[in-house]
Amino acid sequence: MKSIGIDLGTTNSVIATIKNGVPYVIPNNEGSRTTPSIVAYTKDQKILVGQLAKRQSVINPKNTFFSIKRFIGLRKNEIDINLENLPYDIITDTNNNIKIKCPAFNTVFSPEEISAQIIRKLTDDAKTNLNEPITKAVITIPAYFNASQRQATIDAGKIAGLEILRIINEPTAASLAYGLDKKNKTILVFDLGGGTFDVSILDVGDNVFEVLSSTGDINLGGDDFDKNIMSWLIEIFNKKENLNILEYPKSLQRLTEAAEQAKIQLSTHEETEISLPFLITKPKDGGEPRHLNTTLTRTTFEKLNNTLINRCKEPLQKALLDAKLEPIDIDEVVLVGGSTRIPAIRSLIKSIINRKINESANPDEVVAIGAAIQAGIITGEMKKMLLLDVTPLSLGVETLGEVMTKIINRNTTIPASRSKTFITASGTQTSAEINIVQGEREFVSDNKILGCFYLEDLPTHMDNSRSEIKITFDINEDGILAVKAQEKKSKKEKSIIIQNTSTLDENNVQSIIDEAEKYAEQDQEKRKFAELASQAEIFCLEIEKILQLNESTINETEKIKIKTLMNEIKLNIKTKDFNSLQNHYNELKLILDQLTKN
Ligand code: ADP
Ligand code: MG
Repeated sequence: MKSIGIDLGTTNSVIATIKNGVPYVIPNNEGSRTTPSIVAYTKDQKILVGQLAKRQSVINPKNTFFSIKRFIGLRKNEIDINLENLPYDIITDTNNNIKIKCPAFNTVFSPEEISAQIIRKLTDDAKTNLNEPITKAVITIPAYFNASQRQATIDAGKIAGLEILRIINEPTAASLAYGLDKKNKTILVFDLGGGTFDVSILDVGDNVFEVLSSTGDINLGGDDFDKNIMSWLIEIFNKKENLNILEYPKSLQRLTEAAEQAKIQLSTHEETEISLPFLITKPKDGGEPRHLNTTLTRTTFEKLNNTLINRCKEPLQKALLDAKLEPIDIDEVVLVGGSTRIPAIRSLIKSIINRKINESANPDEVVAIGAAIQAGIITGEMKKMLLLDVTPLSLGVETLGEVMTKIINRNTTIPASRSKTFITASGTQTSAEINIVQGEREFVSDNKILGCFYLEDLPTHMDNSRSEIKITFDINEDGILAVKAQEKKSKKEKSIIIQNTSTLDENNVQSIIDEAEKYAEQDQEKRKFAELASQAEIFCLEIEKILQLNESTINETEKIKIKTLMNEIKLNIKTKDFNSLQNHYNELKLILDQLTKN
């Protein structure tokens, strides 16, 4: 039985474990070490996760769910992105919790359920790879996640059938992966992913990771660079071909993939060729098929993305300012996120911090590796000291004058428990409202209210005395808060867990878990078939393209053989015949191999 670490990213997710005492990133069934955090539901009732979901996103936009992490554990009024720009539809339930509409399955999903699909794919593939059951996991979350986002992430793990050992902050995990937990150091973690940018400054020492500051830009990431390349390509193409490529969704899908590929190429090459033959096979003007061929240089790429690159500056400076530090105080810079491979981003960091950047690890794997190390420490697979985290923000209650009175200060090592006793405003007061507040500002209105409850039937006092109420805050290893209020004389008490800010209640989670367990085997079978079917379908499309392109060179018998196999494959998909599908698909691959050899 293995414990694992999961980086559940906005764009990509990674799973790792400890193998023979060292961290090991587990490749998925497609052979990749990162899995796109995308779940798609198709009209023929298939669920696709990862690369397969990504490849059909442009042609199935209403049922392809990406960037779900932006919604997890939040209510609609707490979301910072423009929902109108999303291709899929978001609705809210009566509690203002986010639900995602899935027309293909004629249902709605919570963000937790969709995230659980991603976790399930990662763990199922890992089970296959390790040939061992997996039950326990550490999952990472951004440092700024509040209690309800943390709880929702735990719920997603539970729905996927895992026992969640701990959830830890992504920058903490990254630092752990770099082995930076041993020394007394100030570390700046620069995390530029697909859609979000986070900068955190940590103070590490005595096995405690203290978050000194955490800031960023939730709407800045590698995808924005892709979009700029896309716009550039579209402009070139439309002008040259006198067509509007936006009217061809399948072509746009290929263009999107090519834009990202070009960007990735330019991290290691000075220029890259973008070649998309038959980008439009049947133009609406009735003319010849159209191709796209162009070269993108790193200089042009940097010009196109100059504004984006410069947008990284401000959060970097703000992180230093918030932590009251100068660049010289930073001992290490840790890079996280695929987009930190962009040379211009590295130059920008160097220009501000003027420090050697730690480049010994893979930026898109460090978070998962850190999570695996943490899991290994907890289960004893990795003999090391315990790692402790701290509360990122102060927690307290509202007191007279709408003031926040802190009970647990920020940077308190967790788990922690603290109490304070308060006196009611008057002796005739029969109930007290307990407002739980998170933040650093003096007034409640400037902070975030996490929850609220009433302690009722307080004893009335004949003399001039007033009720005393003891309030206890308990925060566990995962940063989940339990609040208890007790009246001293009557011992009357009431408590809540700041779970009510979670978008699912206890029963809800349990029923989803039960459901998932009940259908586990069936779902697994279904998914295996769906994955194979999609691979085969995509492969057939490619073959069709090749047939078109090489009309004259392929001989008739080969053509007939290929077409028969393709028809068989289509039939096998329809009749859900896994074994025949596998055989026909393999046969077709063999033929293609031979064709390309000739
Ligand atoms: P997240 O943390 O948001 O899930 P990742 O850390 O996996 O995301 O980063 C994904 C982003 O990194 C994508 O936009 C991807 O295109 C980009 N990326 C991956 N590899 C490279 C590379 N070699 N050069 C530039 N960008 C890259
Ligand atoms: Mg990430």
